[in-house]
Amino acid sequence: MSTRALPTVVFLSLSTLLSTEVPASEATWKAGTARAKITPEKPLMMAGYGGREPVASAANRLHDLWVKVLALEAADGHRAVVVTTDLCGLAKRSYDAVCEGARQRCGLDRSQVKLTCSHTHTGPLLRECFEDFNPLTDEQRRDVDQYTDALEKTIVDKIAEALENMTPATLSASEGFTDFAVNRRNNREADVPEIRKRGEPLQGPVDHTVPVLVVRAGDGSVRAVVFGYACHTTTLNTLQWSGDYAGFAMLDLEKSHPGAQAMFFQGCGADQNPLPRRSVELCRQYGGMLAAAVEEALRKPATPIGPALATAFEYAELKFDRHPTMAELQEETARGGQKGRWAARLIRQLEQGQPLADSCPYPVQVWRLGEQLWISLAGEVVVDYSLHYKAKYGAATWVHGYSHDMVAHVPSRRVWNEGGYEAGYSDQFNQPAERWAGDVEDRINAAVDRLVAKVKSRLAGSDGRRSRTCQEARRAA
Ligand SMILES: [Zn+2]
Repeated sequence: MSTRALPTVVFLSLSTLLSTEVPASEATWKAGTARAKITPEKPLMMAGYGGREPVASAANRLHDLWVKVLALEAADGHRAVVVTTDLCGLAKRSYDAVCEGARQRCGLDRSQVKLTCSHTHTGPLLRECFEDFNPLTDEQRRDVDQYTDALEKTIVDKIAEALENMTPATLSASEGFTDFAVNRRNNREADVPEIRKRGEPLQGPVDHTVPVLVVRAGDGSVRAVVFGYACHTTTLNTLQWSGDYAGFAMLDLEKSHPGAQAMFFQGCGADQNPLPRRSVELCRQYGGMLAAAVEEALRKPATPIGPALATAFEYAELKFDRHPTMAELQEETARGGQKGRWAARLIRQLEQGQPLADSCPYPVQVWRLGEQLWISLAGEVVVDYSLHYKAKYGAATWVHGYSHDMVAHVPSRRVWNEGGYEAGYSDQFNQPAERWAGDVEDRINAAVDRLVAKVKSRLAGSDGRRSRTCQEARRAA
């Protein structure tokens, strides 16, 4: 058995200025925004669920889907971009394409690009991501490929545009709270309305905080609000395009702050659902609750973020549990469905002489903005990671799941030991095993520890070099 080639490259860039050393009058952030509508223009497969009539018409939308970019530049010229998307998931191939485009056009390395999806289950299917959920005709596959190609290009275009738009700005951090997320492993969906009505506590770990980053222009007006919540965007399962509750929250915020760009990132919501659910009315309600939590955070005294930025990235090597045997794959293929399509793919791969990988390169990224720590993890990350890192690294820590590569469910050791949906089902993510090895959390924790130490260290790797401008990157390419 072979191991998929594991890139060992580690990127680290550190601003030389710490927030405490920079008088506000002398140094400042620069920030720029850009956005593009990505609602499919022709009928397209929808991602998120199997076993439903999967083609959503172009005209049938609850609201539009968006790619939004916030570009930031610290006082020493070091840059980074946050990309939020109303998408269910992006495959490794799309992540790699966006990073390569951002490198060639804008001189950014992987440590400087934060690519996230909201995980909306009423967004379009993308190439190599959840594509076994429903059978695809050749024509549908072509449409998915075309849409994905255009999307990757759009994201790179918007990264370049946001970088070119940057003007002086101030950044601050605050936090709100809302409680519609429910631990779906510990509460039966059907019981939740009654438990809520009785005012009794729901079971299981949750993270109900709403971290908020506010970008303001010199006149104090809000230019961008980046906010997160740890909860599946699965209120809806219809065939109307939408960003689910997160889409409604962003619309509410952009209405109450004209000219501002509202950007949602998914937290560690793999084991969290908005409950009860399945109506547009509830979806609007949860969006309103989330927007209200952001507004509450905006009214509170915020923590100013000094214009210092450190960005670090590495691949952790995550080992797979045992591979399925040929007999098991043949049995699954005969059974059909999503798992049958997965098994048939693995059989084809083996017949072509390509062994199944023993491990997977797992992207881990850590940013330090002033004294804020942003930890971005790939895939569907359970809430234990957020609670653990906040306890370990302090309250100014934000933990983002669903970043970069929709690699698989990412259980903690606790969830892995307990088993169940979030502990496995890696076949749904095209992985060559049904789950990770039991040390998955240890391996991620070790990578996060290394990167946090790097961004917290002022000296390690710091060369005070400003990032190249897009024009300089283009000339060098
Ligand atoms: Zn999910």
